[in-house]
Amino acid sequence: MLQEIMLKAYKAYDDYIENGTFKSWLLRIASNYLNNYYSRNSVECLSLDYEDEEFDSLYGYLSSDELSPEEKLIHDELISSVMLQISKLPEKQRQMITYRYFYDMSIEEISTKMNIPKGTVKSATHYAIETLKKHFNVDTKGEKFMECKEIYKYLFIYANGTIQPDHKKLVEEHIKTCPKCNDIVVALQKLIPTMVFAQEDEISYFCISMPEIGLAYTGFRTEFPNYEEIQKALDKVNGNIPDSDMIMSSGFTKGCEMSARFDNEGNEIVMKVYEESETHRRVKASYMKKVFKYFWCYDVYENHSIMEHFIKQSKEAPNLYYGSYNNQLGSQSKSALYQAIPKEAENIRIKRGNGVIDCDTYKFAYVDRYVTEEETIRLEYSYLLNK
Ligand SMILES: [Zn+2]
Repeated sequence: MLQEIMLKAYKAYDDYIENGTFKSWLLRIASNYLNNYYSRNSVECLSLDYEDEEFDSLYGYLSSDELSPEEKLIHDELISSVMLQISKLPEKQRQMITYRYFYDMSIEEISTKMNIPKGTVKSATHYAIETLKKHFNVDTKGEKFMECKEIYKYLFIYANGTIQPDHKKLVEEHIKTCPKCNDIVVALQKLIPTMVFAQEDEISYFCISMPEIGLAYTGFRTEFPNYEEIQKALDKVNGNIPDSDMIMSSGFTKGCEMSARFDNEGNEIVMKVYEESETHRRVKASYMKKVFKYFWCYDVYENHSIMEHFIKQSKEAPNLYYGSYNNQLGSQSKSALYQAIPKEAENIRIKRGNGVIDCDTYKFAYVDRYVTEEETIRLEYSYLLNK
């Protein structure tokens, strides 16, 4: 783009009248060019697919316009790092990538424009893409780079040690190069051993929420005295549960999304979502491999921050934050809520709840007690954060 802007400036130089500064004249050309560019091209053009090869698009998801501010931040960071890597490519390769993916030109058009044989354009483009892929952790077989969003759902079961080996591998590959996800894993690995569940014949529930990311990991354990019968019935239908059977059914607030549910051994339970009311959705299992006598459902939710839990910044004191979170499970149980607080937070005051657990990369405010069916459990706290 810089190249194009400079070319435009060079061509327009005769029209330049020396009454303003040269810099502002140049910036005006640049801003016109960029405005034009962005009105012509959506970010979808960043997709790094290329013809004749079936590679998953690295940045195909950028076309999604329903992004939360947190997601947008991650995407923007990703775009800048892609741009940075492109700028480090050798001149000819950089030009080709620009023409191919930003101007959407064919190999043939690039060949004509650059006066380079088609075969050379193709191999040089290929080489440039491989260089970029290597930088972004895409393996040579064309396996997709795992975005944080795709990894989030496994982080709790990974830290809990209840993950399937193939998913474990994905998480380990990812956290090697992602400090953000690694921080979550470190915190969860510290937190989990401190959690005390109900006795086996009682219902146990917990929710660990990470307000900054909008993520929440919940766990619900219940007893299935007739689990052997259910297992037989499941085996008969190969785990595919008929629509009429409301098994493992639960509800959640609209706006927040359930992204996965796993069992005791990290098998994914496929859930079907139903509209329940104006404000709530209901899910039920449509595929389930296994039933356990003491069944743990580990759920992962996204956009959790829209639920009834908040981090509010005080109007009078900008460093002062208030956090709160409610939950009503609707059954007699041992219920616990944990909410992540930045590790830099100071003067944490628990207004309602049991205390704070320091987990290195995050601190967690928490409340943990037995509740009746009608009871709402609430966590309330404040902290100071100097950013
Ligand atoms: Zn990550």
